[in-house]
Amino acid sequence: MYTVMVTPECAPVAKVGGLGDVVQGLSHELAIRGNAVEIILPKYDCMRYDRIHDLHKVYSDLWVPFYDQHFRCDVYFGFADNLKCFFIEPHSYKNFFHRGVFYGHHDDPERFAFFSRAALEFMLKTNRHPDIIHCHDWQTGLVPVLLFEMYKHLGMTHPRVCYTLHNVRHQGLTGEFILRQVGLEPSQYMTHDRLRDNFNHRAVNLMKGGIVFSNFVTTVSPRYAEEIKNTGLGYGLQHTLLVHSAKFRGILNGIDYNVWNPEIDRYIAYPYSPTNIDHKYRNKEALRNRLWLKQDFKPLIAAIGRLDNQKGVELIRHAIFYTLANRGQFVLLGSSPDPNISRDFWNLKHHLNDNPDCHLEISYNEELAHLIYAGADMIVIPSTFEPCGLTQMIAMKYGTVPIVRNTGGLADTVFDADYAHRPYHERNGYVFNDYDRNGLESAMHRAVGLWYWFPQYFRELMINGMRYDYSWNYQAQHYLNVYDYIKE
Ligand code: ADP
Repeated sequence: MYTVMVTPECAPVAKVGGLGDVVQGLSHELAIRGNAVEIILPKYDCMRYDRIHDLHKVYSDLWVPFYDQHFRCDVYFGFADNLKCFFIEPHSYKNFFHRGVFYGHHDDPERFAFFSRAALEFMLKTNRHPDIIHCHDWQTGLVPVLLFEMYKHLGMTHPRVCYTLHNVRHQGLTGEFILRQVGLEPSQYMTHDRLRDNFNHRAVNLMKGGIVFSNFVTTVSPRYAEEIKNTGLGYGLQHTLLVHSAKFRGILNGIDYNVWNPEIDRYIAYPYSPTNIDHKYRNKEALRNRLWLKQDFKPLIAAIGRLDNQKGVELIRHAIFYTLANRGQFVLLGSSPDPNISRDFWNLKHHLNDNPDCHLEISYNEELAHLIYAGADMIVIPSTFEPCGLTQMIAMKYGTVPIVRNTGGLADTVFDADYAHRPYHERNGYVFNDYDRNGLESAMHRAVGLWYWFPQYFRELMINGMRYDYSWNYQAQHYLNVYDYIKE
């Protein structure tokens, strides 16, 4: 199977969140199984260039039509973590990918519409005819539209498209002009069964276009698939997903155990596995030393993630104070593009600066994340919604017990120590239902209580989590089945 991923992110070179990890992990697994995989990304100025090997120009003068002009692009090739990546660099006064950040500009829809067209133009000009083009999130929603409406007629008749929704909260809503820019006539596409947004009838919805025009649509967990089809978590796309439900499935994300594995993790001081889990406590000590926390007989609770309303920032804040009031220690690693949220957490950091039981790290720090997963006893994830969530799966691999809200992929992967309808050896964390302080406290109270009063049971819970296989091993096979299905 020959797959080309067209994506705005791929870890470790261009990662904002889980989407980057997923493209990396899935591509790895597909390659290990003997499939050919190539990845097409924008050439951002803010990528981790130190993680790309042998970067060199492979195509000059790729002229990409955009509205009434052509933008000249160069295409570079390099290996990112052994994956074959092409990076498209447009040269135009718009400086699409020289912005110092991946997202967050008013013209983001335009930037990624251009990228979508450029990726197809590159495939056409270099005679690439993959079996599957796998696109990700709203940024690449125009790829299947352009493939079937334009590039098919230019000779690209072979590829089929799999489109993955990582988070339907962000759908790429923009004006009709975007269609003209990529060479489509708006009047043909602004209908309810094509790209017109379901609420705002004057807006183009790029994610909806991706859903309508792809051969198959996946999202990142079975529970989230149900939630976005049947509840308000679809943010207006429910109807579209229901209409296309025959080609829509939830496939749980995996994690890449070459990257996230305490047995071989080069960022942690003491490797460990379920059979020598005592080494985890040495990492706890190392983490405390690194963050100037007191060495004490207390559970260490962590939160790692984007500080976004989706992640339950209110409850994360509450978890910090609840932990400190209940004989625990807390470590937070997170960052936010939202200046208000960022300011709140910086204020909180100053407020708690002298507390020996608490450290807030307001930044993005991949290496520190590894150490926290290894050193913490528990991780708290009180999301308002969570398409899949990787942090709970990574945490479990490191024997860190997750405390999560019952939503999306969290509900598919964490099974409550006291209430899950599962045998004891399959229970791996704590789950609460209501998005409020009482809900969170009920779960944290049980988790901290077990840590203090029944350490041997707490250890069993840790080991249960470590024994789950949330690697790409199984999940990649589901994607291969989808690829096979649409190829036929
Ligand atoms: P989302 O994609 O919604 O951001 P996920 O749980 O799917 O959330 O994936 C988050 C990924 O990003 C994990 O690999 C997590 O370790 C990483 N991550 C998030 N915030 C940070 C941060 N501040 N520093 C380092 N890694 C982070």
